[in-house]
Amino acid sequence: MARSGSESQSVPAEVDVAVVGAGFSGLYLIYRLRELGFSVVAFDEADDVGGTWYWNRYPGARCDIPTTDYAYSFDPQLEQDWTWSEKYATQPEILAYLSHVADRYDLRPDIRFGTRITAAVWDEVGRKWQLRTSHDDEMRCRYYVMASGCLSHPKTPDIEGAGRYRGEVYLTGMWPHDRVDFSGKKVAVVGTGSSGIQCIPLIAREAAELTVFQRTPNFSVPARNGAPPPDRLAQLAEDRGGYREAARWSRGGIPVEPTDVSGVTAPADVRRQRFEDAWQVGELYAILGVFNDQGLNPVSNEFVAEMIREKIRANVSDPETADALCPKDHPFGTKRPCLDSGYFETFNLPHVRLVDLRRTPIVAITETGIDTAAESMAFDAIVFATGFDAMTGPLVSVDITGANGLTLKEKWADGPATYLGLMTTGFPNLFMITGPQSPSVLSNMVVSIEQHVDWVADCLRRLRAEDLDRIEPTPLAEAGWVQHNQDCADITLYPRANSWYMGANVPGKPRVFLPYIGGVDGYRRACQEVAENGLIGFRLDGPAGARCNDGVVRRIQPDVAIVLDMMASLGLPPMETMNVADARALAEATAASMPPGPAVGEITDAVLPGPAGDLSYRLYRPPSTGPHPLIAYFHGGGWVLGSHQSDGAFCRDLCVRTGAVVVSVNYRHAPEDRFPAAVDDAFAAVRWIAANAASLGGIPGQLAVAGWSAGGNLAAVTCQLARDAGGPAISGQLLLTAVTDSDLRRSSYAENGEGFVLTADLMRWFWEHYADEADRAHPTASPLRGTLAGLPPAVVVTAEFDPLRDEGDAYAEALAAAGVPVRQVRARGHIHTSLTMVDAVISGAPVRAQMAEALNSVWLAPVRA
Ligand code: NAP
Repeated sequence: MARSGSESQSVPAEVDVAVVGAGFSGLYLIYRLRELGFSVVAFDEADDVGGTWYWNRYPGARCDIPTTDYAYSFDPQLEQDWTWSEKYATQPEILAYLSHVADRYDLRPDIRFGTRITAAVWDEVGRKWQLRTSHDDEMRCRYYVMASGCLSHPKTPDIEGAGRYRGEVYLTGMWPHDRVDFSGKKVAVVGTGSSGIQCIPLIAREAAELTVFQRTPNFSVPARNGAPPPDRLAQLAEDRGGYREAARWSRGGIPVEPTDVSGVTAPADVRRQRFEDAWQVGELYAILGVFNDQGLNPVSNEFVAEMIREKIRANVSDPETADALCPKDHPFGTKRPCLDSGYFETFNLPHVRLVDLRRTPIVAITETGIDTAAESMAFDAIVFATGFDAMTGPLVSVDITGANGLTLKEKWADGPATYLGLMTTGFPNLFMITGPQSPSVLSNMVVSIEQHVDWVADCLRRLRAEDLDRIEPTPLAEAGWVQHNQDCADITLYPRANSWYMGANVPGKPRVFLPYIGGVDGYRRACQEVAENGLIGFRLDGPAGARCNDGVVRRIQPDVAIVLDMMASLGLPPMETMNVADARALAEATAASMPPGPAVGEITDAVLPGPAGDLSYRLYRPPSTGPHPLIAYFHGGGWVLGSHQSDGAFCRDLCVRTGAVVVSVNYRHAPEDRFPAAVDDAFAAVRWIAANAASLGGIPGQLAVAGWSAGGNLAAVTCQLARDAGGPAISGQLLLTAVTDSDLRRSSYAENGEGFVLTADLMRWFWEHYADEADRAHPTASPLRGTLAGLPPAVVVTAEFDPLRDEGDAYAEALAAAGVPVRQVRARGHIHTSLTMVDAVISGAPVRAQMAEALNSVWLAPVRA
């Protein structure tokens, strides 16, 4: 190994790009930037390359992504020339690989080892970063890149008396270079995350006694290490380029086929088989992908979690120890699961003991050992496998002062805010590699590193070509990305765990989900879109002038986006080009493929008398003892599609959330029965329900009318008719993305008229089938044109990406102006159809909760009070 860079080398006065870190990110950055003709210097505190693999030398340290995938892909020849000896290579082998890379591309001359950047200050006048090193050298750079890793800032043991102990102390994240010999010693290991779980079996082999101090048991899966998997090697041999490209566009940075099997709906034998198959693979992606909903749905997750617990109980002989090793306080996968080699079996050895800190917490570390609430123990050595101040720690530990005099630490006091995890407002020309709010730790890091480095390198090349020298994200773009990150995390089970993903492992750290969970593929698409559209959301400056294509790159809710992608992939013709029968068949098939919604107390079907014959209805009753308030509900479907059964999941959800009996009534549909047939039916139904409230199990006088889309139109119209007819008494109206006007010229039609399921053309098609042009302005077709004073209190729900949004908002405003109490619920990032997709679009749940709470406060308040 030729270590040509050293701390004795001088620091240049100025470079184009300064880099912090000489791990996977830093090395590739030097390679790419040099290739583009930028002058570059990197700094690393270590005395050689390797980053995390330089420091984490504890026994058993290995990667947890198969090494066939955990390797650079930028140079096919490098790939051909390097052979991994194991499925999961050891730390020395990975370090040797990185050293080989440094030698091969002669990267070391551009690295200053044994050197930390202690401070960085942005100079707005010179448009450069001013850096200070740990040797008190100063230098300037145009661009400053933190390639400092996500798990490189070890947490100092936050245990009373930690500094007092006089025996040997080891931190897994800063392991000595010389071999540590535990033979014949009494050893303590504190911490059972990935590092603890990897080193415990090896330390147990040497130590005379090993005591493991466990605060939270962790899920772990046998790594089944051995030779690199032959199937992967075969795929690589056949089409290396194709394999790597598939990894770049995969969800986690490894090309695996995602499953469409749901844990909730799969039969028990299928569940078991899928789990057992995944258990045999010995890969995180297999066990994290047993079901498509295990990261989202607690029921599905618990199936996997319990099957892992069964394995733990089967492998650990002492039932009490086995039980203590079973994780129960977080859903599986919400803390990083571990891959192990004989971890649980280690506790069957007579000299290994588990101390469950939930039962007997550590009171203090003493000069000789550890005192728990139950006993004092003496040790020759203590190993702290207590983890890292992850993701933000390495960034805020450097004193970085931005354009407005604020430090990064100050700016992020309540949690990180970034744009694409790449940059942060107020810190021009500062880039982060695998920063917070990028996929990073939730992906195959090497794939994410290459993507980030390539994006940054392309960006710098572009700035140079366009005679620009300053780049900074706008507040709007950054706020949008932060919101999108939170939206992505909120639909998952991840926020339920006290994990380092949430910053929960460091006392006082803000509890914010740190990595981006929208997938490597989705993330790469977002970065690409930004670059291809004039660097959306970045303000650019330089000799060539200033420009900014401001905007937010992802505004739609992440699960709504998935639905839209899925629908687009089906390649169906637009509904408005179909005949009515086909459109109805498609709507029915779509409804049938949706989850059924929550359980209710009872569902019954019956008929009620309508003006032109019986009208079918389906009644949803809450499980509690009645009587209950009543909701007369009208389904959506543009007056053409659907029936009293079609919005079943939404009706169940409404029933459960409001505690009301929901009566979903059918009405005559167009084009067979045009306007005003549906109106006549709806009004007749409401009158009948009001008259029969008691026999339906309702509380007389507690009747709301509700509807979605065209059903919302009928609900609004019915309220006007009831007021004009002097009854029945309606105590509230719920209008969900309702049609309130036949004027299709509002801005929301222009903005959202295409691409969001309900299109402007489809809405025209509905109106054409429903009502003659001359009738459409009548208040019984366009309730917005009616007199609104004296109507029942209203809950009006509008969705951001709905062509009907503006007419819904207009109705809410007009109601309020007419003195009607109105609660408006605006569904950010939703489309016309997403709020009724119960359990399929999880982000709709909080909106429906708000809607139900609003409805209850509007019309149930007197009853509840
Ligand atoms: P970790 O997952 O944060 O685990 C730290 C452990 O220390 C936890 O069990 C934690 O308990 C315990 N702990 C922390 N403070 C404690 C205290 N004051 N008293 C008692 N126990 C305490 O850290 P890690 O194991 O170093 O792993 C961090 C991440 O690095 C991993 O999740 C993984 O992404 C990466 N890593 C990967 C590999 C690999 O296989 N390639 C190996 C090592 C690390 P609580 O859970 O109760 O906080």
